[in-house]
Amino acid sequence: MSSIVFSIVSEIRFLRNSLISERTLVDSLEKRVNALAKKMNFNHKINVKLSERRQSYAQIYDPTTGWFNIALDKNKVMRFGQGSIDFTICHEIAHLKRTSKLGLGMTLSLFLSFVPKLFYPSFFLMPAFLQVVVTVSLIATFFLIAYINLGVKLNEKIADLAAADALGSARGGIFSFQKLLEHNKQYYDAIMKNGTEEEKISLEKKVTPEGNALNSTHPVLTERIRYLKEWERNHVRNS
Ligand SMILES: [Zn+2]
Repeated sequence: MSSIVFSIVSEIRFLRNSLISERTLVDSLEKRVNALAKKMNFNHKINVKLSERRQSYAQIYDPTTGWFNIALDKNKVMRFGQGSIDFTICHEIAHLKRTSKLGLGMTLSLFLSFVPKLFYPSFFLMPAFLQVVVTVSLIATFFLIAYINLGVKLNEKIADLAAADALGSARGGIFSFQKLLEHNKQYYDAIMKNGTEEEKISLEKKVTPEGNALNSTHPVLTERIRYLKEWERNHVRNS
């Protein structure tokens, strides 16, 4: 198994160093993503695209590609090592896995609340047990939607830890978060030194002096690094 892993690693390294089409790179990443998805027991085909938005994200349903999609930050793919790319991929797969379960639950609840309506013109004419089914299903749908939308920060931590579990290492994550933190900090220092008063004020709302981005849906970088280091301490004993 590790030989497959290594051949893909060298393939990506090779791709990065040569002038190849983006399509070839995406195909290669797609193979990697689907191999890692199998490892994480996610057995749907995942489509991959490159994102210019400087972030990676998981997406349920894209009309042009299909149900399960991962967009990988192109900048990161070109510049970061295999460990960091793998970590990002597994993090996004964890999102897909969880959202697909919640989405399925939501569809099922909506279905259960909708079907009795086909046979009974009004809620009040339904037999009592169907009234219970409809009520419970609607409440379940409501909570699932709320959970999907409000649980973002918590889910980010779960996705990070799931990625570390899948890879047996958190180092790829720690490395890329440290790089990001460093990058943000340099940016912060540069603006604080040379920026206008206005730029400084607006920057302070977005980035802390240590480099944490404040307007992100994710936990701050130092927090992500902290719990991943804790994961390393608890899981990797022979290093
Ligand atoms: Zn995430």
